[in-house]
Amino acid sequence: MLKQLFKSLKGKKTSAIAVQTPLAESPVTISRDEHTISRKQISKNALNVMYELTRAGYQAYLVGGGVRDLLLGLSPKDFDVATDATPEQVKQHFRRARIVGRRFRIVHVRFGREIIEVTTFRGNHNQADDGKTPHIDKTQVNDQGMLLRDNVYGSLHDDAMRRDFTINALYYSIEGFTVLDYANGMQDLADKKIRIIGDAAQRYAEDPVRMLRAIRFQAKFDFSLEADTAAPIAQLAPLLKQISAPRLFDEVLKLLLSGSGKKTFELMEGFGLFAPLFPTTANILSKESKPDKVFHSLIISALANTDLRIQQSKPVTPAFLYAALLWPSVSVISEQYQHKGEPRFRALQLAGHQAIDEQMPVIAIPKRFSIPMREIWTLQHRLETAHGKRAIGVLQHPRFRAAYDFLLLREQSSQTTEPRGLFWTNLQIEHPLSTDHAAIDKPRRPRRRSRKPREKSQRDTPLQD
Ligand code: ATP
Ligand code: MG
Repeated sequence: MLKQLFKSLKGKKTSAIAVQTPLAESPVTISRDEHTISRKQISKNALNVMYELTRAGYQAYLVGGGVRDLLLGLSPKDFDVATDATPEQVKQHFRRARIVGRRFRIVHVRFGREIIEVTTFRGNHNQADDGKTPHIDKTQVNDQGMLLRDNVYGSLHDDAMRRDFTINALYYSIEGFTVLDYANGMQDLADKKIRIIGDAAQRYAEDPVRMLRAIRFQAKFDFSLEADTAAPIAQLAPLLKQISAPRLFDEVLKLLLSGSGKKTFELMEGFGLFAPLFPTTANILSKESKPDKVFHSLIISALANTDLRIQQSKPVTPAFLYAALLWPSVSVISEQYQHKGEPRFRALQLAGHQAIDEQMPVIAIPKRFSIPMREIWTLQHRLETAHGKRAIGVLQHPRFRAAYDFLLLREQSSQTTEPRGLFWTNLQIEHPLSTDHAAIDKPRRPRRRSRKPREKSQRDTPLQD
């Protein structure tokens, strides 16, 4: 596939883009027979949005992951459309359209369960003012250069400049079925390179989440980070502390529940991106002595396990992963409580609360995950000690299966003194239950459905909530 892509690019290369120079004024146009995207692979709804906007006289392109993934022969997670219509103009054309986000306004057009995200071309923030919109509503930058608001609209060329990586700045047009490439993205796809558009340090300062996105794509596609794109990351990693805790929760899920979680975690550690996100865990990991590194190996096993489950299309839950990521902290704090005379169960309870309270200002873990996390932790005590009838009672606990899987992880990384996994494995054979650990997200009692389905909303927008 990549060879084919590469072949079709011969003689098509845009003038090489030195990182700090502007993009080519006009794009390289890759015609239908020179690329591999077919309309059949694109969501009907995304096509409808593009046809409707085009009929109304606007420009509309498929952009971002949709184009990138199709060119890589993968099936895109979602389809994003870029247009020169303003959010208000887009809204007029679709019955179920909502403008979302204040700081980065976009339109969600809903078709059943699918949401097509329609983004108006972003422009350069230093662009001349139209005199109509208050400046504060359009663009705002903090002292560190971070964009707090990005609602300046511009041309297609401007939009390409505002995107993060060259491989994410390819536009597919339904008029002529061509791919437009301003940033040499096709070449970078063929070379398996993640290259930031513009000056790396400045682009990371504008939005530090771009550093996480860089390594996410690196791990997911097994690409390399181009040298200038990689260079400033280690130094700028602490800027992640400026990002809102709810946005970081979503970003971390994308990083670690992508199917390449183990690799992503190792890259995060290598680039110093783990410590700003999990300060307490990172601090404990940094003090672990070789060769044991028990906490480190527990986290690695949890991620490898999660990757495997994703490969096997089994469900995965953030609660289990977060239980592993915060376990070093829970473990250390609970020992301190035990030293002070608290019984093990109570110590685990107190430590669980404290570990979550310390993590929350950085990453906002929703209650639907933090409650099962605490149960997984406190159940460790019961799994370490229960026998006989009590043990059979523990099997009935809704979080038993997750806690048991967690115990096995701990044993694998020599976290327990007396192995008890086998006892519980045998007990389950004698008393079979059908639950799986990922079933822990399910509410115990049926909940009333909220009227509005959860929006993709600000989760995927580049700016702070
Ligand atoms: P995936 O959906 O597979 O995670 P994606 O690249 O499509 O990857 P989205 O978050 O859906 O990611 O964003 C769509 C597009 O919007 C990106 O491809 C990129 O062009 C642009 N984009 C997203 N986040 C940023 C950002 N933080 N800075 C600049 N551009 C961004
Ligand atoms: Mg996408």
